[in-house]
Amino acid sequence: MTHPRHTNAYITSAAAWLKTQQDLRCHWCHKQTHLNLRVGHPLKATVDHLIEVDTAPELAMNQGLWVVACWTCNAARGARHVNNKRRRQPRPPSRRW
Ligand SMILES: [Zn+2]
Repeated sequence: MTHPRHTNAYITSAAAWLKTQQDLRCHWCHKQTHLNLRVGHPLKATVDHLIEVDTAPELAMNQGLWVVACWTCNAARGARHVNNKRRRQPRPPSRRW
């Protein structure tokens, strides 16, 4: 099964949607994000989902649930979600920052 986020339809419409946004401030931290930064840049504009795609894949294409997020917040939310799912599994010691 293809993850909805990895389909061409999703990637294309997410990019198009971002270009239509007047306000590219991150929904979570309110920092100004930018479209033309390299992948992985902390302030790169990304599409985040108010309801995680994992939770409701059928809503992945519902733009009413899309928000602009900086790369940092998007990655942090994704990681938190994955951690919740993995809570019962043993994990290697994590590095303290
Ligand atoms: Zn942010």
